[in-house]
Amino acid sequence: MEYRFLGRSGLKVSALSFGAWVTFGSQLDEDLAYECMKVAREAGVNFFDNAEVYAHGRAETLMGKAIRRAGWKRSDLVLSTKIFWGGDGPNDRGLSRKHLLEGTDAALERLGVRYVDLIFAHRPDLHTPIEETVRAMSYLVDRGKAFYWGTSEWSAEQIMAAYAVARREHLVPPTMEQPQYNMFHRRRVERDYALLYREIGLGTTIWSPLASGILTGKYERGIPPGSRATVPGYEWLRERFESAEGREHVAKARRLRPIADELGCTLPQLALAWCLKNPRVSSVITGASRPEQVRENMGALEVVPRLTEAVMERIEEVLQNRPEPPEDFR
Ligand code: NDP
Repeated sequence: MEYRFLGRSGLKVSALSFGAWVTFGSQLDEDLAYECMKVAREAGVNFFDNAEVYAHGRAETLMGKAIRRAGWKRSDLVLSTKIFWGGDGPNDRGLSRKHLLEGTDAALERLGVRYVDLIFAHRPDLHTPIEETVRAMSYLVDRGKAFYWGTSEWSAEQIMAAYAVARREHLVPPTMEQPQYNMFHRRRVERDYALLYREIGLGTTIWSPLASGILTGKYERGIPPGSRATVPGYEWLRERFESAEGREHVAKARRLRPIADELGCTLPQLALAWCLKNPRVSSVITGASRPEQVRENMGALEVVPRLTEAVMERIEEVLQNRPEPPEDFR
């Protein structure tokens, strides 16, 4: 396993990590969740990602149980959770001080740990002043409930505003962002955050590297039974896969397959390696509904050196979505 610094911080996270969205508590029971985490850990994964909203908290409970069952040393792990959607009450969602503090305590209890290494503001909250959120996150870090805080799906402007408040008020600034990043979703990571990498040393833990499975090629002949698009509650995903854009993505994935074949890897390995190739990515959070998938995905690291400039160019020819670089007047 390769370990990368999380942005400008001194924390090292495994370049491939493992997350619980959709799978834990919906597709995976206690035993399978444990098996998947065990395969990941044996491959060197140290970072496990979660959120209070995943399966309404059950994902954290399952992850906590798996960690205790495996008997892993807490200091060997980098655990995260994300706060925003904690329930239906008027104060159960968003990034108010109240929900951040109460939501974190509840998540720690479900995970069965005293602290998480990373805590994320799962989305921007347009109804809470950024200063209130920054103060609450800073307080959580000062109290040792989390070691670093970050954002998820915040715009560059929102992250910069949080950073500026933190600096002005001598609070703890955000260390990392958790954006979607994959072959079909590139602009934020490759273009919008450029200034943030340089100016504040932002790290990124990126999500849906396989675009929820499209980049495995499994949707080429329709929706296979047992796949994510058939999970109850994720009908919206199925609709997205069957939309014009979804069909275009499926077609592009098909055209990437010969490149994977030539490189002697599978399509999911190629798509994950492509994310790993970007040095701005601190960790690629993988997801899996079966231990065999985890095993296959961990093989992506070996593929990265095979992604020469010529190969990357061939991939660009298929994708046709390279974000324009910022204007350079020098
Ligand atoms: P992916 O895009 O990689 O999708 C993972 C899914 O693809 C698996 O659950 C599985 O679904 C399928 N799959 C994975 N590997 C293989 C394989 N080798 N062969 C065939 N199918 C495969 O990642 P996720 O969307 O799961 O996101 C990863 C993590 O990122 C999440 O667990 C979560 O921690 C985080 N995340 C964060 C978000 C945020 O807002 N911050 C939002 C979403 C995710 P199946 O077998 O069921 O078809």
